[in-house]
Amino acid sequence: MLDGQIPHTVEPRKLARQDVRFDGEVAVTVLKRLQQSLVDSDGAIRVQLHFFRDLEGRTCIEGTLGGELAMECQRCLEPAKVNVESEISLAVVWNDDQAKALPSHLEPLVVTEDSTSLWDLIEDEVILALPLIPGHDDDACRAGLIYTTDPEGNLYPEEEVSDKKQNPFSVLAGLKPGGND
Ligand SMILES: [Zn+2]
Repeated sequence: MLDGQIPHTVEPRKLARQDVRFDGEVAVTVLKRLQQSLVDSDGAIRVQLHFFRDLEGRTCIEGTLGGELAMECQRCLEPAKVNVESEISLAVVWNDDQAKALPSHLEPLVVTEDSTSLWDLIEDEVILALPLIPGHDDDACRAGLIYTTDPEGNLYPEEEVSDKKQNPFSVLAGLKPGGND
């Protein structure tokens, strides 16, 4: 068991022969593509990965990734902490033909050289696990509208809970030159 540091690049086939486990964290600050979906780069991704060879001699990577990340709530546009968890069950292959031959419970990871970026792999998996519509829980959200989604993932207001009457003068004030826009 290697504690703490998760190396940037690894040789997955060698690690699998050695039956290596990683248990540590990768700081969000080094995951630049992931940051584009976040409102800040605080925190880290918890990483537990096991490299091993299965009974058919395949190089496999199994484990879990998790973290609490700050995303923009799609209702109130304030930062919201979202928990992201991802389970990984990968088989390292040399090419697409090998990828297609894998049993359905294994996702292919095509690695054409000895080494590959472990950080990129972690980042890809976390990005896939991000919620499509991040947001606060209903009681934690400042938005006056409760939104819901249809089966295609489109967001629409379900119910208006705000009882504030709209003041026509505040609307006019917003239209004045130099007003807030
Ligand atoms: Zn919110």
